[in-house]
Formats: sequence, structure tokens, C-alpha cells
Amino acid sequence: MSGLKKQRKGELIVLSGPSGVGKSTVIAELLSNRRDIYFSVSYTTRAPRVGEADGVNYHFVSREEFQRMIRSGELLEFAEYVGNYYGTSLKLIQEKLEQGTDVLLDIEVQGAAKVREKCPDAVFIFIIPPSLEELSRRLRQRNTDASETISLRLEKARQECRESICYDYLVVNDNVMDAAHEILSILEAERCRVKKRIHLAQSIIGNADALICD
Ligand code: 5GP
Repeated sequence: MSGLKKQRKGELIVLSGPSGVGKSTVIAELLSNRRDIYFSVSYTTRAPRVGEADGVNYHFVSREEFQRMIRSGELLEFAEYVGNYYGTSLKLIQEKLEQGTDVLLDIEVQGAAKVREKCPDAVFIFIIPPSLEELSRRLRQRNTDASETISLRLEKARQECRESICYDYLVVNDNVMDAAHEILSILEAERCRVKKRIHLAQSIIGNADALICD
């Protein structure tokens, strides 16, 4: 019986997708359905956009502070993206996973590749737009970036989508609710993997062996 109560470690969920694909909206929808998931707030050297708050969307830090964090090994992963650093704090994530809490990372592809090396059991999900034209429309509509930045982000998006092949799951964000629902289904299926539930089977196998022996 003790096997049934075995403390489950949290699931590390890595979500990537080009800038403007609607990840934040999908994540908000996902988290409203799964309030038990801990969303990791990243560190960045990018300036806050209108409406973004420190500690909520990101921890906004200087390049010097970010470089200090790299040197002192405080980051699980980091990457430079369109001229700015982005990185994930290691300590808090480790604590949450140990406590059995699922942790969600919204990170770009270079960072995801580093996480894949360090945490091969994580679940890797890539979100794509229905088309590049639609992505361009969404980036312009967001009205937060200059047109050169948008061009850079679109080129980056094409490169990033090539990396989707390295992920476990692909979700098309044509509709936020559908995309969030697909991710919920992925997470549900991941929880049912035999390797994550082997202790449940073992408790029965153990009992069955005992019955045969009797
Ligand atoms: P944005 O500037 O649009 O908020 O984010 C740009 C890109 O950085 C997005 O693709 C986002 O997923 C990624 N990003 C956000 N936080 C992190 C992080 O901690 N590490 C890495 N590698 N990428 C991140």
C-alpha cells in the first residue's frame, strides 16, 4: 500500500513557440484550468512592455546582474534572443519539482535544447501559428515592437519552427481554447505513462505474487 502513496515528483513542462504565436494567452488559459501548475517567471534583460510588471511577466534585470547569475550557476538555462538575455532560475524549479509540483517553462528553442540535455524526462511541447502570414498579422496587431524588430522576430520564427521536430508534441494555435485543451490532454496522457505509474502496477504485481505463492 505504501507504494500507492509514493511521493510523485513534479513534471517539468517546456513550452516553446515563436514570439507572437499566442503562448502567453494559451498559458493563461491552461493555468486557469490547472491551478496546481507552477509557472516559472523568467529573468530577462529586455525592457518591460506596456502592461508588463516586474516579478509577474518577468524579473527584469540589468545585463550585469544577468551575467552575474550566469557566472554563479543560478540558471538552469539561458539564451540570448533578439539582443536580450532570457533565463530560468534553477533553485525555485528544483524545489517545486521535489515537492511534487508540476512546473511550466515558456522558453525559446536554444534554452529548451539545454533543458533537454539536463532533464530528458521533461515534456516538450511546441506551439506553431496556423501560418507565417497569421503570425506576422498577430505581431503587428500586438503593436509593441518596431517594424525592424517584427522582421527579426519573423525570421527567427521560421528558424524556430524548424526546431519543432526535436519536441515531443506539436500544437497549432488557431484557437486559444482548443490549443489549451490539447495541452491539457497531453499532460493527462503524460501522467499515465507506465514509467510514471510503475509503482501502481508493482503494488498489484507484488500482491499477485503473494497470492500465487499462497
Ligand atoms: P518575449 O520578449 O516575446 O517576451 O520573449 C521572447 C522569447 O524568449 C520567447 O520565445 C520566450 O519563450 C523566450 N523566453 C522567455 N523566458 C525565457 C527563458 O527563461 N529562457 C529562454 N531560453 N527563453 C525564454
